[in-house]
Amino acid sequence: MRRLRFLRSQTRTLPNLAYKKKISSSRSSRSSASSEFAASSQAATCRRYRRGSTMAGVIKCRAAVAWGANQALALEEIEVAAPEADEVRIRIVATSLCHTDLSFLGMVQAKFPRLLGHEAAGIIESVGEGVEDLKVGDHVLPVYMGECGKCRPCKSQASNLCEKYWPLLRTTMMLHPVDQKSRFSVTKDGRNQPILSFFTSTFSEYTVVKADCCAKISQEVPLDKACLFACGVSTGLGAVWNIAKVHAGSAVAIFGLGTIGLAVADGARSAGASRIIGVDTNPSKFELAKKFGVTDFVNPNDHEAPIQQVLQGLTKGGVDYAFECVGKVDLMAAALESTREGEGKTVVVGLDLSGKQLSFRPGSLFGRSIMGCSFGGFKGKTHVPHVVDKIVTKEVLVDDYITDVLPFEDINKAIDLLRSGKCLRCVLTMT
Ligand SMILES: [Zn+2]
Ligand SMILES: [Zn+2]
Repeated sequence: MRRLRFLRSQTRTLPNLAYKKKISSSRSSRSSASSEFAASSQAATCRRYRRGSTMAGVIKCRAAVAWGANQALALEEIEVAAPEADEVRIRIVATSLCHTDLSFLGMVQAKFPRLLGHEAAGIIESVGEGVEDLKVGDHVLPVYMGECGKCRPCKSQASNLCEKYWPLLRTTMMLHPVDQKSRFSVTKDGRNQPILSFFTSTFSEYTVVKADCCAKISQEVPLDKACLFACGVSTGLGAVWNIAKVHAGSAVAIFGLGTIGLAVADGARSAGASRIIGVDTNPSKFELAKKFGVTDFVNPNDHEAPIQQVLQGLTKGGVDYAFECVGKVDLMAAALESTREGEGKTVVVGLDLSGKQLSFRPGSLFGRSIMGCSFGGFKGKTHVPHVVDKIVTKEVLVDDYITDVLPFEDINKAIDLLRSGKCLRCVLTMT
């Protein structure tokens, strides 16, 4: 640990120390004008690179590396490369854990070593060539839902599934699509090897992402709270506001009262829903759920009838909107059938990775609709800053999701807490 603390302090000075060295070595391989360039002043640097490029060197820092499926993460000294064109390097200030990280950590078919983590906030440390909308010192959320700004979905209001970044999320989980080269590496037993990325790879003191995957947020918002909006909380709020478009006076059912389910409740309350029914098998969640606007609680284990019949009875014909936030196909069908026939809307927010098919009677669809979403339909760069602003104006809750705060080195404790179901969000702080 003492050694790691020493290394941590090194990270603050390395970028400056490495500045000229990096420029010298990288240019010499690319251009015959290299030596001339290395000796030149910062003014010359500005002429050669577009505005904003800082061309910092490699940083050594701490990271929690996943070496294999279901193994504890290992705190390692890793190397984080300088940002390449259209990329930024971010000093992570706080990162929280999301169940998706744990799901991936449990995938025996996945490749390792890998740097997990995708719910974080930080400060831009350096920017690559061509980045014009972000600068050193900006407070940002690295967001996995990239936004190229040029494709059809990016230019329309209909979808947030950017044609450039969405296929990458669904397949390789890499955020460096141009060269497929990792920006992270670690030296083990004398051998330097790359570390694969995962979404925005925030279980590290520094990460590198595409500028298209970076939402600039207000400096008024504490980073150790804003981090939640890089995944779970935004997903729940967006499912209500963007996908279902919940209307005032409506009845809403939420299947699963974890972080996303509670964000759905908070979003539904702010949209004016008059009845918000939480469905969960753990009754201890109800007290906290009340703070987020949940008015009724139903435990399926307390009823012999299927949950959809219970909800139909409670609401005299079904809820207007149902949200499945657990990620189980059986619950998705139950959610659909708990809505009002002829008009009910169901939004699938949870992700079922079991490979099971979703099935329901075709008659269940009379006048009803069901749809899925990713990141609550939000575009990362365009929308997330405005959602985060709602923390300041207190239009959305944030503190009540954070059940635990731990130093980064206790990340495995945080994983155990999340697995035990005893915590909603554990925020890990980099000091
Ligand atoms: Zn997540
Ligand atoms: Zn796009």
